[in-house]
Amino acid sequence: MTLPLFPSAELAERPHTCHARDCETPVPPEMLMCFAHWRLVPRVIQRAVWAAYRVGQCDDKRPSEARHRAADAAIGAVARKEGKPLRPQETASMIEFGLLPPER
Ligand SMILES: [Zn+2]
Repeated sequence: MTLPLFPSAELAERPHTCHARDCETPVPPEMLMCFAHWRLVPRVIQRAVWAAYRVGQCDDKRPSEARHRAADAAIGAVARKEGKPLRPQETASMIEFGLLPPER
């Protein structure tokens, strides 16, 4: 019987990284993005992300719905500034926060 050399160590120790599109910068679990990307996020969204923050949400993997929406808007805002494609839920969240005109 053979055992993998490093059983799931890679998964367990994979660092939490910036949520901006294509960014692999490791950030502390309580941070949504690295500083370079976070400062591209509109202030109103930054506030919404922090307002929805709950201690321990990264441990139990159950961030609130509000946090999800705020995070989607933040990720979408950065992607838009970098000229990267937006996911549908990011567009929807940005409209909700007034960053984009409502779709007609
Ligand atoms: Zn980043």
